[in-house]
Amino acid sequence: ANTIQSIIQNMREGLVFLDINSSILAINQSATELLNANHSSYIGKNILDLTRDPEIVESIRKALRGERQSNSLAARDKFINIFASPVVFAGNIIGSIVIIIDMTDKMLAEKMRREFSANVSHELKTPLTSILGFSEMIENGMAHKDDIKGFAGRIKKEVLRLIELIENIIKLSELDEKLPSEQFTTFDLLSLAKETITSLEHLSRRKNIQINLLGNSFDLIADRTMISELLSNLVENAIHYNKENGCVTIKLAQNPGNIEITVADTGIGIPGQHLPRVFERFYRVDPSRSKKSGGTGLGLSIAKHIVQYHGGDIKISSTVNEGTIICVKLFT
Ligand code: ATP
Ligand code: MG
Repeated sequence: ANTIQSIIQNMREGLVFLDINSSILAINQSATELLNANHSSYIGKNILDLTRDPEIVESIRKALRGERQSNSLAARDKFINIFASPVVFAGNIIGSIVIIIDMTDKMLAEKMRREFSANVSHELKTPLTSILGFSEMIENGMAHKDDIKGFAGRIKKEVLRLIELIENIIKLSELDEKLPSEQFTTFDLLSLAKETITSLEHLSRRKNIQINLLGNSFDLIADRTMISELLSNLVENAIHYNKENGCVTIKLAQNPGNIEITVADTGIGIPGQHLPRVFERFYRVDPSRSKKSGGTGLGLSIAKHIVQYHGGDIKISSTVNEGTIICVKLFT
């Protein structure tokens, strides 16, 4: 009996037992929390002392008349599902059992998915509209012979942007699906960082940016492709949002319990009010600057996703005009 008591008290679902007069016979902690009730004990009290929500009260009334009820409600900052069922003994309704399930996380995740789809459509539309515009001008003979090459170049640039966008969206959805440790291998992080720097040399050279790599060689057990993507995204930003002749410093460290990757730049920085949002999908501090260079606004959200997938955390700090530091910790 003690075990049952402690299961009921500690389960995540809210549970309320009522007698035929709507008096509370038993109630657990989750039920009071999910209903935003704040007294310590409701035993023996009427359901109206617990909640005055008309939908809940009505569905319990109906349950006590023998109808099973299920409702979805928004209660303050929570979304809940409520099930109220009659309890029948020897042919008579003797009370009701009410189960309350917290749906907040699921609702928020759905909201995020809806917003993401809306954003994707918008992001796809912009380059497609300009591709349409340029190709129509060529088709209608409105483009001078000398312009055509330039227009083709603009079309190509927009197509490349679309491809990059779609590749990033695929990466995100793959990350949503994958189970941790699916493709973990052991590899040397320092060599991977060197590879990353080499692969981004065409960008760093253009702005004459010096890249420093600090730290010793050590092994990491992780998904190598993902960690490579993570490093590329961070270093690419550190170059891209840097100043002419600036500097990027990548530091790798092995601590007890974690490994730390820090990417610091001497770039334009990010104003404080934007910092909490830069990991959101499609969030850009300066949309025109990011889009002009073909940025999709997904780099940091992919980075965050990769870090979470590996069970780590990612932090950003920045000073406008001085630079940005991103620190990734992967727990080992
Ligand atoms: P892409 O998908 O090509 O990476 P992006 O660089 O615009 O596009 P994110 O990498 O997610 O997208 O970065 C989001 C925004 O955060 C950028 O648009 C930029 O405004 C800002 N940002 C990111 N890194 C830095 C940095 N090191 N310095 C200054 N601003 C940065
Ligand atoms: Mg980026």
